[in-house]
Amino acid sequence: MPANTTNAPASHQPRHDGMESGHHSDPYQQRHKPSQPSTCPDCQATFHQGRWTWEAPETGAASHRCPACERIRDGVPAGELRLSGRFLTEHAEEVMQLVSNTEDHIRQEHALERLIDSSGDPSSGEVLLRFTGIHATHGLGEALVHAFGGTLEAPFADAGSPMRASWQRD
Ligand SMILES: [Zn+2]
Repeated sequence: MPANTTNAPASHQPRHDGMESGHHSDPYQQRHKPSQPSTCPDCQATFHQGRWTWEAPETGAASHRCPACERIRDGVPAGELRLSGRFLTEHAEEVMQLVSNTEDHIRQEHALERLIDSSGDPSSGEVLLRFTGIHATHGLGEALVHAFGGTLEAPFADAGSPMRASWQRD
């Protein structure tokens, strides 16, 4: 066994394939640093003290599209959550109501974590939700498990690829 005495937690494997560009790096977060303060022309989120929030813009704020709106424009989700199973078919309205409430809550707290769109038909047993952040992707899945049971699979994706999570209950 090669000498490798790292004390790093085992949950995060460092990458050594030349793709390494920082911990949890999100190209949409690091594409270009906005000046501070900045306001997004699409959603009116403001960038201040290093983060995007829903605080009211300051006068004289620069215009700079936020990473979430960049993803929405490019059609590039950070995460996808697939819902499926008989429970979804039979409780379509309840499930989609929980999705809507939870997304609303997450978006208020984290301005860059939003639902991009949903496709499919809950009453036919399959829906695909696309998000601008992995926190929302994973958080929605956990909220579904908490409310309705079932199983969530949310493997961490390689840098640059979206998280592909799925929730299922038969
Ligand atoms: Zn925006």
